[in-house]
Amino acid sequence: RIVYCNGAYLPEAEATISVFDRGFLFADAVYEVVSVLGGKLVDFSGHMARLRRSLSELDLPSPGSDDELLAIHRELVQRNGLDEGLVYLQSTRGAADRDFLFPPKETPAGLVLFTQAKALRQTEAAERGLSVITVPDLRWARRDIKTVQLLYPSMAKMQAKAAGAQDAWMVGEDGLVTEGTSNNAHIVTADGALVTRALSHSILHGITRASVLRLASEMGLSIEERSFTPDEAKAASEAFITSASSFVTAIVSIDGVAIGKGTPGETAKRLRDIYIAEAERTAI
Ligand code: PLP
Repeated sequence: RIVYCNGAYLPEAEATISVFDRGFLFADAVYEVVSVLGGKLVDFSGHMARLRRSLSELDLPSPGSDDELLAIHRELVQRNGLDEGLVYLQSTRGAADRDFLFPPKETPAGLVLFTQAKALRQTEAAERGLSVITVPDLRWARRDIKTVQLLYPSMAKMQAKAAGAQDAWMVGEDGLVTEGTSNNAHIVTADGALVTRALSHSILHGITRASVLRLASEMGLSIEERSFTPDEAKAASEAFITSASSFVTAIVSIDGVAIGKGTPGETAKRLRDIYIAEAERTAI
């Protein structure tokens, strides 16, 4: 596999980053994950807009213009012959002698990108739905910034695995669901309304979430952007997650409680189909 590392396209075994890179030492870095369908990038401009916001909230240097980043994404997809999968981008505050204070503004950003080949459209998760457990949300309070501080979500996924589930929905101190470890959480009420937590500092502003809400409202679904408890989710007609890597994937059990009939719900399946069709049509 060819990766992009600080200005060069290299075989992955030859790519190196500095021991002093602040992404490595302080998790002083942000990232994006863009899905690829038929060799084209899905929701690219949305991901770049969120990257700009993450960079600016942390006063991180820009790793390049949107056009330059698009060119790197395309070059990597092409060099790796990627048809379906993901492009991961990570931008760091660069390398500087270890110090809590930020290095001078002129320090060049660190930038790495790599591709991952992965089936996204036809998956067992989409076919069967996923089981989740609920866990306390122990992340920092600025979850709207897409930083690489992923240790807690990683631990929560391990906890889910140990419990025989595939993922975890995190619950804030207020007893309300924030989001999944790497996805936004949604439920469908008995009267068919789509309920998902409103945007704030508590959750990542999902690019797939935004696209799915737009498509759902075009479909005539009523949308309630509000928080919900694990109990409300367990009693809901349907539950599902959204993310660049899962698109729309049904949740069929929460803490061992079956959701609806315990199989992927009709709304989630329709939204998945519509999202994929739209993604294929608008990918660049
Ligand atoms: N929430 C969290 C915590 C995430 O890590 C992600 C994606 O990585 C999402 C939500 C979904 O965001 P997107 O739809 O932009 O992939």
